[in-house]
Amino acid sequence: MPSSVQASTLTYQGPVQALQASWSYEGETGPEHWGELDESYAMCSIGEQQSPIALSYSNLSSAKWPLINTYQPTTFSVQNNGHTIQADVNGSTASTLRLAGVPYTLAQFHFHTPSEHTLEDEHYEMELHLVHVDKHDNLAVLGVLMEEGDHHEALDQVWDLMPTEEGTATETVVLDPNDFIPGELDSFQYEGSLTTPPCDEGVKWTVLDEPIQVSREQLDRFQSIYPSNYRPVQDLGNRDIGYHYH
Ligand SMILES: [Zn+2]
Repeated sequence: MPSSVQASTLTYQGPVQALQASWSYEGETGPEHWGELDESYAMCSIGEQQSPIALSYSNLSSAKWPLINTYQPTTFSVQNNGHTIQADVNGSTASTLRLAGVPYTLAQFHFHTPSEHTLEDEHYEMELHLVHVDKHDNLAVLGVLMEEGDHHEALDQVWDLMPTEEGTATETVVLDPNDFIPGELDSFQYEGSLTTPPCDEGVKWTVLDEPIQVSREQLDRFQSIYPSNYRPVQDLGNRDIGYHYH
């Protein structure tokens, strides 16, 4: 194991789960109860800047952070972590997301179905989250909505490795994260949280408004493993949502 600093910087894999209560997307350990399951999950109930949220084209403010991505082909390992399918950067990567000039390095990406964010009160079939971390361990997530349509070739490379049970695929795969980004970077921007326990806040969210297309068969492959793994939308509260025209 690398040092804990390296582990969090280079292979951030979501909240630490050892010794914490298990959680799920339904029933007594579902989203309504996350805040009660473990002291460290308190923000899931008392947080006031939680994610996901309902996105709309009305009442938007101006962009919060100019956005540039410099994604490069990167080696990933693919795991089923019991909550989603996740591709973790294997080793290091030059893939970064720059928010107002500050570089956040890509750590992992994973999927939800249906989408966690809604757009004009509609869920999309799925949502991709590209999770990035800066040198101070601050998180920035790029959300990409996914709709049924054309077959997505790069996604097959992830799906072909995804374990149906919890565990990590032995093979790794080289992917260009640009293949998962639509043509335009027009996006909603707001301050939010992790959408899974411990629901930590201080996460900079950018959700692209142009979806990518994946085929019905590809949706079925994921949904046969995880039929529903989304957190419902949370109150916007005092926050405003910025819109970035690229
Ligand atoms: Zn997510």
